[in-house]
Amino acid sequence: MRKIIIAIDGYSACGKSTTAMMVAERLGYTYIDTGAMYRAAALYFHEHYVSLDNPHEVHKAIEQIQIQFHINSKTRRSETFLNGLNVENDIRKMHISEMVSEISAIPELRKHLVEQQRKMGKKKGVVMDGRDIGTVVFPEAELKIFMVADLYTRAHRRQLELLEKNQIVGIDEIIENLKKRDLLDTTRAESPLRKAQDAYQLDSTYITIEEQVDFILHLAMAKIMERTENVNTHERSN
Ligand code: C5P
Repeated sequence: MRKIIIAIDGYSACGKSTTAMMVAERLGYTYIDTGAMYRAAALYFHEHYVSLDNPHEVHKAIEQIQIQFHINSKTRRSETFLNGLNVENDIRKMHISEMVSEISAIPELRKHLVEQQRKMGKKKGVVMDGRDIGTVVFPEAELKIFMVADLYTRAHRRQLELLEKNQIVGIDEIIENLKKRDLLDTTRAESPLRKAQDAYQLDSTYITIEEQVDFILHLAMAKIMERTENVNTHERSN
């Protein structure tokens, strides 16, 4: 069967990552969390006191950032490595969520990470989640999903995720963070978050993760079969 690219974009905490990871696992595809890449970059900027007002410092920092993903053999979950170090826990902390959207708006950083994302998806067979995957990184992706959910539901889900990582954060603080990131992500000049014209919208407010996964798998199988049939017809006619 031919492999396709599945692009999942949408607002923070709509369940993109969990859904994307499960879809990838069911299809035997690679899952790529591009938000983790921007978070790792934000962590680097934070740890190295990079001044956003100094273009030279920003440029030097971007050149130093190497991001990789490795599957944890126990949890079977993809974990993020920054310059060889596992930063999976650090990048999910609240102070990184506070600064990531400002950093992800830097055009030079986006260019650098988009190049890496395109390389990762070159052979297809990937499920990539983020903000600009269907619009900028892979506008030719065979399947595009745009995820939305009610703000309070998103905040509540994010609060539970943080709690699982022993971080206790009040719901008001989370709501404020999500609102601020939504605004920055949708209004930035470079690759703002928006739904691609040919994306399917998925509202995850009232449905379970399993239902979200089934919705995407159903569409993915149709796209895979469509491509396979087209290829067979083409091969028969030659
Ligand atoms: O997906 P997650 O919430 O972890 O993403 C963190 C931040 O990274 C987003 O709020 C956004 O500012 C940025 N991001 C982006 N483009 C992507 C993925 C994430 O700008 N493709």
